[in-house]
Amino acid sequence: MYRQTKIIATIGPSVASLDGIRSLIDAGMDVARLNFSHGDHDDHRQAFAWIRQASQDAGKSVAIMQDIQGPKLRVGEFPNGGITLGTGSEVQLLPEDGRGDSERIPIGYSKLLSDVSPGDRVILADGLVSCEVIDSTGECLLARVVNGGVLTDNKGVAFPDSRLSVDNVTEKDLADLALGRELGVEYVAASFVRSAADVEAVEAIADAPVIAKIELAQALDNLDQILGTAAGVMVARGDLGVQLPLERIPLVQADVLKRANAAGRLSVTATEMLESMTYNPRPTRAEVTDVANAVMGGTDAVMLSGETAIGDYPAQTVATMAKICQTVEEGTLREDTPVPFVGGENDVASAVAQAATEIAKNVGAKTIVAFTETGSTARLLSKYRPHQRVVAFTPNPVSQRKMALYWGIRPHEFERREYTDDEIAAAGGILAKEGVAAHGEAVVMVAGVPPNFQASTNLVKVHVIGELSGGLGG
Ligand code: PEP
Repeated sequence: MYRQTKIIATIGPSVASLDGIRSLIDAGMDVARLNFSHGDHDDHRQAFAWIRQASQDAGKSVAIMQDIQGPKLRVGEFPNGGITLGTGSEVQLLPEDGRGDSERIPIGYSKLLSDVSPGDRVILADGLVSCEVIDSTGECLLARVVNGGVLTDNKGVAFPDSRLSVDNVTEKDLADLALGRELGVEYVAASFVRSAADVEAVEAIADAPVIAKIELAQALDNLDQILGTAAGVMVARGDLGVQLPLERIPLVQADVLKRANAAGRLSVTATEMLESMTYNPRPTRAEVTDVANAVMGGTDAVMLSGETAIGDYPAQTVATMAKICQTVEEGTLREDTPVPFVGGENDVASAVAQAATEIAKNVGAKTIVAFTETGSTARLLSKYRPHQRVVAFTPNPVSQRKMALYWGIRPHEFERREYTDDEIAAAGGILAKEGVAAHGEAVVMVAGVPPNFQASTNLVKVHVIGELSGGLGG
């Protein structure tokens, strides 16, 4: 059997070597995430080179996802690295950068006073400390501490009730996106997007499909428009849990996954999935169930963050996640639950992909083949969640790596051929040679004709391995 849900693993100090990254690939990593909230450009350049090398050595397609930091606001620095805020006490929130003390917290956001109003909540240190704004002096905001605690240097600060007019793409993001373009990453994950316009702002600079991280209440309000623009979405539960009451996260996750799939977009579930494995060789029962729920909820991919970046058991965590995904898929997804049509009116490509999965089921095929230039045929097939193995042949190495994120798709390199019949015959030969399909076995082939253009998917053929594919050159 094989796994269909894809695994994204974050690269960090725990796997900062060719061997470290190779161990993640061997354990099941499909996509490597470079988190630009940490590390400098030299670190990311080096990691990028190791990922490419390890992927080549392993003979496995691995996509690289650049996760840009976006406009995350942070507090300044304090004497001795932190302050203690007592519940019920009052503090000043300052629009400027710099050093603060136990009564004055610099936020470094010039429009603080105009964007944040009395009554708005202020969440500090990922939810450890919360305040409510009670007044504005014209120079700073006055806030009452609702839940006290320790606030250390540079911790994140969130304003879940306020509409901030920050630029979505910061100076740092611009420099990071330039590096991503230079290196040639397959995906960019955009943090703190609020709207389709924010996604478009990143798309205009990135040379890669954008995965919009859903971590603000505003992004949820604008989810349909975001899904109309982005290549996919990530349920970024870490920051989402700061913005929303924690108990809403399961409902939001289920809703975002459902809507992303219905829109034919990629979906990723992220953060704290196997958190306890950062320091323990085994996950908790609750974590196993969390990964399983994401798989059953229809996610294309599940993501690991600190578990692989700074954890003690990075490869073991990926292997554990792979085992959970596969076991859940075998137990549930192979049940016959047809996926409704994904696509608009006259959407030939999607209709053909849906038909191909139906045909494969009805003729008892074990394999579907997609010939694809950009990967779009494979992406459409993937969204119909076929029970069959899908081998996606492409002559384009970038598409080959991108498809590593697509649910159920196994990207395969392919030499360009002039005629569709030659492609079919060649693909049949490769499947037979690699032991994927036997002589006489029916395989469903999906293609866009004529080949080698960004032609819309428009052809399905049931091909019997070893038989002539007919016509020209079969
Ligand atoms: C998250 O907040 O869940 C997330 C994925 O983003 P980051 O890891 O960059 O905080």
